[in-house]
Amino acid sequence: MGELQSEIKYLKGVGPKRAELLQKELGIATIGDLIRLYPFRYIDRSSIQNIASVRQDVASIQIQARVVSRTLYGPAGSIVKTDGEKIHFNAAKRLSVIVEDQTGRMEMVFFKGIRWNYERLAPGLTFIFFGKPSEFNGRYNIVHPEVDVPQEGNMSQGALTGVYPSTERLKTAGITGKVMCKMQSAALALCLPEITETLPDYVMGELGLCGLQYALKNIHFPSDTYALQKATRRLKFEELFLLQLSLLKQKYIRSRGDNGIVMPKVGPDFNACYNSLPYKLTGAQQRVIKEIREDLMSGHQMNRLLQGDVGSGKTLVAVLSCLLATGNGYQTCIMAPTEVLAQQHYSNICKYLANTSVKCALLTGSTGTKDRREIHSGLEDGSIGLLVGTHALIEDNVIFKNLGLAVIDEQHRFGVDQRAKLWSKGPGGIPPHVLVMTATPIPRTLAMTVYGDLDVSVIDEMPPGRKPVRTTLHTPAKMPAVYNFMRSEIAKGRQVFVVYPMIFENEKLDLSNLERGYEDIMKEFPLPQYKTAMVHGQQANDVKNFNMDAFAAGRADILVSTTVIEVGVDVPNASVMVIMSAERFGLSQLHQLRGRVGRGAADSHCILIRDLKTSKESLQRLELMCRTENGFEIAEEDMKMRGPGDLEGTMQSGLPISLNIASLAKDGLILGEARAYAQKVLKADPSLTDPRNARLAAELRKEKYRVQDYSKIS
Ligand code: ADP
Ligand code: MG
Repeated sequence: MGELQSEIKYLKGVGPKRAELLQKELGIATIGDLIRLYPFRYIDRSSIQNIASVRQDVASIQIQARVVSRTLYGPAGSIVKTDGEKIHFNAAKRLSVIVEDQTGRMEMVFFKGIRWNYERLAPGLTFIFFGKPSEFNGRYNIVHPEVDVPQEGNMSQGALTGVYPSTERLKTAGITGKVMCKMQSAALALCLPEITETLPDYVMGELGLCGLQYALKNIHFPSDTYALQKATRRLKFEELFLLQLSLLKQKYIRSRGDNGIVMPKVGPDFNACYNSLPYKLTGAQQRVIKEIREDLMSGHQMNRLLQGDVGSGKTLVAVLSCLLATGNGYQTCIMAPTEVLAQQHYSNICKYLANTSVKCALLTGSTGTKDRREIHSGLEDGSIGLLVGTHALIEDNVIFKNLGLAVIDEQHRFGVDQRAKLWSKGPGGIPPHVLVMTATPIPRTLAMTVYGDLDVSVIDEMPPGRKPVRTTLHTPAKMPAVYNFMRSEIAKGRQVFVVYPMIFENEKLDLSNLERGYEDIMKEFPLPQYKTAMVHGQQANDVKNFNMDAFAAGRADILVSTTVIEVGVDVPNASVMVIMSAERFGLSQLHQLRGRVGRGAADSHCILIRDLKTSKESLQRLELMCRTENGFEIAEEDMKMRGPGDLEGTMQSGLPISLNIASLAKDGLILGEARAYAQKVLKADPSLTDPRNARLAAELRKEKYRVQDYSKIS
């Protein structure tokens, strides 16, 4: 017994030296750790292709081929001499390996690991190459293929052989794919009987999941593709389910302790606003309002994240939610990240409230002393029902009579302390309900994990009638045509944004680019016929506001700017957005920028100008922008291309534990299922004390599930 915990060096064929490497390179300390190192791919020996059948438009190919020759190239395509004993690997920039099978030849290309690959890919030897083919000078090649040694008569009975994560150092030390398979085989033979089930029998029964022993055996040595599928599903589910369970359990503990304000009524003001709308709510808006209403009635404090693309109608949802609260005699507030945005909210919200009895006020840093005093007393005596503002509204001297609901717009711009302050503004220390709104679409799968203990609502439907924005991609050579297009739009009375990147590390250079761009525009669009304004983050506030206002009021035809316009300004008359060096922006940033046009009646255009030297990945990302306007699709695709660890901001560090087999980018369906099932289990047994759930309780006691408290995220 206890073999799972034995040190890896005691496994047959390992020994102290290899053990040290396994620990260093892959973090494997025990035999149990080794068993939980799964193949990331399988070589299907029945599906090796011929070189002659290679096409470019496939995701990947697998060929078995013999090395014919190797050539090392230096800078600018010069050939590094390879005869004689001494090879100058340092001079080599690229390794080209020509391989052949019975049907033809192709090239394998390496820019990294040149020496190592040169040495192992000796002419005459046969390997299995796997990767995405691309076409170069009319011939196919694979850049950085995965290379495996064909395994004759290995221990796997079926046609599928696992390929394990590895490193150059491991392979050099002789831990090849074949050796790894042998180690796994020995580990399983030794430990499989002592592996205990982690999921309750009823869970496996209800969901049709296979047992853990079967899953582990088949993830390493699948008897066939069906067994592999079953094993994969089981292990992915287990991983995501336990994670969701640990996140949601904390949430249940929290919400049980809360004495949330109960708001059972729908007052006349809600109905007055609702009935006065000139349009119907979208299905998504209706669904979200229902979700919020259920929260407000539940007796638990609401802590909900509302995601919806720019223009999806979040403001209306926020206002209707506020009216639910005021209908129960509570005050509400909506906090925006900037003064411009707060003002815009205020004027929109006043329109929504026109037929109601709710008094609305605006409080920002620039509210005058007299007005401020009036607002303070209106909040204290309860006569103001809805306060709109910037962070000025969480200052200590702002005291509500009974704040029941706080809405935070664009949450990523507020710090944790600021949000905590809002929590403290409820009546008699009871925290108000909190609704956090964001237009930065986070893929649903990521939201469920990063904001695992928040409830997430999504408005995934746009109000009807919004015109699509036509997006195109060009190189700077096209600028004359772009200028002509701008002139024709301006002649129709429209306005144009021209946006330059402004990246913190590159601020000086970026600023001079922006200024040069401004001069170019001034030359192309001279006064007095055309008026151009410029805004950027380094201008004084009054200069910035002056220029912004000039554009918003239609006194300027063109606004040259950095991303400061990303949030805020709503100029329905602007129909063209030109984005320079588009490859330097993040996808979600581009998406936000594009949301600034297409708000009026005119046909709108987003013109992306990219550098000639844009990398292939950046090109793909920009092409995605041209293809879709759906923010969630963009976020999902962005995550698929870059991996979830690469997303910006809070999300990046937000992943509570690293996943071993499941992928947030690819396993959204299983994640949804795992979360729903975790909810069901916790609903029936919130503290997991039922003997039926004993295995789950034991798993959650393990180190890796002792995650920090994520409840402070909003
Ligand atoms: P968001 O805050 O999500 O960016 P807004 O709330 O500002 O979006 O809404 C964008 C525009 O759509 C506003 O002019 C609003 O009046 C309008 N709108 C909202 N809901 C609907 C609807 N259901 N049907 C038609 N128009 C709507
Ligand atoms: Mg908005």
